[in-house]
Amino acid sequence: MDGSRDIIVIGAGSAGIAAVEGAHDHDPSKSILLIDQDPHAPYKRTKLSKHLAKGYPDTEFRLRDDTWYREMNTELVTGTPAARIDREAKQVELSDGRTVSYGALVLAPGSEPIYPRIVRPHEAGSFFVLRSMDDAQRLMSALRRARTVLIDGMGVLALELADQLVAMQKKPTLVGATPQLMPRQLNARGAEMMEELLLRKRVKLLFQEEILSFEPDAKRGFDVTLLTHSGVYDVVLLCIGVQPRTGLAADAGLAVDRGIVVDDRLATSDPAIFCAGDAAQHPDGRVTHLWHAAEHQGRLAGANAAGGNECMDGRRFRLKTSVFGSYVFSLGLPRDLSTYQIEENEVENRYQAFYFRGGRLDGAVMFNDEPRARQYEQAVNEGWDYDRVSRELHL
Ligand SMILES: Cc1cc2nc3c(=O)[nH]c(=O)nc-3n(C[C@H](O)[C@H](O)[C@H](O)COP(=O)(O)OP(=O)(O)OC[C@H]3O[C@@H](n4cnc5c(N)ncnc54)[C@H](O)[C@@H]3O)c2cc1C
Repeated sequence: MDGSRDIIVIGAGSAGIAAVEGAHDHDPSKSILLIDQDPHAPYKRTKLSKHLAKGYPDTEFRLRDDTWYREMNTELVTGTPAARIDREAKQVELSDGRTVSYGALVLAPGSEPIYPRIVRPHEAGSFFVLRSMDDAQRLMSALRRARTVLIDGMGVLALELADQLVAMQKKPTLVGATPQLMPRQLNARGAEMMEELLLRKRVKLLFQEEILSFEPDAKRGFDVTLLTHSGVYDVVLLCIGVQPRTGLAADAGLAVDRGIVVDDRLATSDPAIFCAGDAAQHPDGRVTHLWHAAEHQGRLAGANAAGGNECMDGRRFRLKTSVFGSYVFSLGLPRDLSTYQIEENEVENRYQAFYFRGGRLDGAVMFNDEPRARQYEQAVNEGWDYDRVSRELHL
């Protein structure tokens, strides 16, 4: 495959696939090479945590079928990491030694799980994380023999996994340093509602806890010592967060901070290289970890790699999930409430909280009002005023 392409895209997740689409829509004549280290055909990563109990039929999980790549004038190479970028020569070296030249490059390598500091690198393989299809299959296989599962984390991924584990008749325990569930996305009442759902399903919650040591034990699972407890668990699942994958970009001398630094056009510090998705750090310092945000950025980065000149428009994306029979939505929950006017309404199992700043809607949390989820997103993005929110969105 040595040779050259107009555009190379590294990473075939949400951002990478959208970059191909964005580039092709801008200029269908462009030849594109899409590379991924994952051996599986590109799939819907978000479903990994929502289908543990049902399994992963290939047909339901594929992001695109084979004809799509042909239509996009794109060659897909899987199971092959991009090992090095030579910016001077404008070439990407693959892990199998092949080298391909590019006119423009899009980086979409996503993010990777964070391990707690007490996990020594050589022990990492004894624990479970969930980022890829292979992670999911390894976890499924371990769960066949497991009953008790300790989940280190209290965020959305931890909750989705707890939901699936309960459906599989397992006994999950969630442990976290925080005093509440989903601290980044849920306000106090939302967290309380979520907690009630979990307790009803007998999920054990250990708040404001810290794991002091894990001792992997081939026969007994893990001996886990916490601040105030200790216990033996068959499986320990780490869900404490993710960090942008920046190694390839840093080695190539691109500007890297928390993520790969980009401007409003998603160009990196090298104007021939763009970056989109979980790996990108935006001009306001933000990194996003949302599927639709990655998709949106991917389209723009792809179009710009094909010669376009599109800018991010400041749009924000919702987090939504369905766990334990409840639909949860969160967008723009402020950290510092001092300058916000807050309005909360609750009717039976439905709940909404609106955060207004300067008379305009700037954030919302909602439970069980799924049919209007898009309206909530629109209302926050357009900054609806109090009257319009009350007319069109109040329960
Ligand atoms: C289990 C799970 C559930 C989630 N649920 C939700 C949800 O409900 N809603 C939501 O909004 N978000 C969710 N997310 C987050 C969402 O999946 C990510 O925000 C999104 O996938 C980011 O897209 P991306 O393309 O930037 O990165 P990724 O989807 O991570 O794709 C990056 C790709 O790059 C490849 N790659 C990395 N380095 C290299 C290299 N050197 N060479 C070649 N290939 C490379 C990786 O193999 C990977 O396939 C979830 C994430 C996980 C793991």
